Amino acid sequence: MKLTVWTYEGPPHVGAMRVATAMKGLHYVLHAPQGDTYADLLFTMIERRNHRPPVTYTTFQARDLGSDTAHLFKSACLEAYERFKPEAILVGASCTAELIQDDPGGMSETLGLPVPAIPLELPSYQRKENFGADEAFFQIVKTLARPVEKTSHVTANLIGPTALGFRHRDDITELTALLSDMGIGVNVVAPYDATPRDIARLGAAHFNVLMYPETAETAARYLEREFGQPYTKTIPIGVGATRDFVSEIAKITGRNAALEEARLRMPWYSASVDSTYLTGKRVFLFGDGTHVAACARVARDEMGFEVVGMGCYNREQARLIRGLAKEFGVDPLITDDYLEVERRIEELAPEMILGTQMERHIGKRLGIPCAVISAPVHVQDFPARYSPQMGIEGANVIFDTWVHPLVMGLEEHLLTMFREDFEFHDDAGASHHGGKAKLREMGITEPETPAESVDMTTSGPVEIVWLPAAEKELKKIPFFVRGKAKRNTETYATERGVAEISVDTLYEAKAHYAR
Ligand code: SF4
Repeated sequence: MKLTVWTYEGPPHVGAMRVATAMKGLHYVLHAPQGDTYADLLFTMIERRNHRPPVTYTTFQARDLGSDTAHLFKSACLEAYERFKPEAILVGASCTAELIQDDPGGMSETLGLPVPAIPLELPSYQRKENFGADEAFFQIVKTLARPVEKTSHVTANLIGPTALGFRHRDDITELTALLSDMGIGVNVVAPYDATPRDIARLGAAHFNVLMYPETAETAARYLEREFGQPYTKTIPIGVGATRDFVSEIAKITGRNAALEEARLRMPWYSASVDSTYLTGKRVFLFGDGTHVAACARVARDEMGFEVVGMGCYNREQARLIRGLAKEFGVDPLITDDYLEVERRIEELAPEMILGTQMERHIGKRLGIPCAVISAPVHVQDFPARYSPQMGIEGANVIFDTWVHPLVMGLEEHLLTMFREDFEFHDDAGASHHGGKAKLREMGITEPETPAESVDMTTSGPVEIVWLPAAEKELKKIPFFVRGKAKRNTETYATERGVAEISVDTLYEAKAHYAR
């Protein structure tokens, strides 16, 4: 047992639902207790889809357990077929149904359905949502893909985008345009908007673009083995990665590595003088392995940030993140426990977090700005406007998104220089975050208490005391790096057995860590 308040991923059957909902002409019959239909809301509310997911739940209740739940499953299957007439049916069990062992796969075989029934074995107590999506897509491909002739012109499949995927909708558009600029057509996009008939002709493409390894790597490997289709390994998030991606495709296809850069504004924006203040901003990254790895490179090489930590919640990508962390000289954090993530963030005291919806909450609690780079995300990250992460426009979107939560350059100076000021005091925050507006609303023109918000109590075995002068000096440090400075000084003092921190200790520690 594990005490859990937040989970980064849902159970594996939610992953399978993401594949089924992404597709058309496919239906998913899910053996599940009454109440599991909550998952519908993920698609109708968070992603704002305008139709119910193509999922029929058996919704058995406690009183059904005394009788024949298998019978319930069979009739649900037959009714679903009669009502929706899908081209193929996925069958599987949720966590509770897994325990009663009705074997949906075996039962569906005995029903004599006129369309393929694809059984899913999803170990709900060992694996999670991304595994469920990857496995469901793989089983669909394995059952339905047929050996077919390659298209006469060069084409690619875009594989991996699902329902409820972070910016999957717009990444598809961006990559389709990018391939088209190279004279490469798209054969099938799957599972997003694909029908079982589309899956059958996956083999006609010359190669696969693996957009999201989390949801389609197993299928990509299978297609490589069975149909001789190479697949791309570069994730085109960021300018450098997009250029590498184009070169990788050029190598696979023999085409020229042509990238249409007329709309690319990110490199100049981040090189322009107004971005100087971004240099060396200490960032911590957390999310799914793919987005963290891609964004770490963007953060360091394209934004000029200093990456002080990184991690991922999906163990499938642990090796990737461990390797990358080594390259960046930071400790990798592989965990699905948000409390561990919070502790690491507190420890590192970064100036910015690039993470998921969870890290937004953590950032809010700790007063650290955060931009979202990965699922899980909430409704605001399924925006109405065009907002890819991949390709040229993706790089532009990333620049804006990451800069926005930060305090702007001039404001940063004002907040540092006039910290006693009623408008630019430490707790004022960035003007675009609305803190000031709130004060005015309440009829308060000056903060009631001066903004002296540093907690001077220390934890640890030795009781360290900050002398008043040192405390005053500490408050001169801009608030967004003050936590880090405080911690460094205390570590420095503890290591040397210094119990009272004076102004000198503060500056000695500063010199020590600057070395
Ligand atoms: S079956 Fe799984 S998803 Fe459904 S309520 Fe139980 S634990 Fe949650």
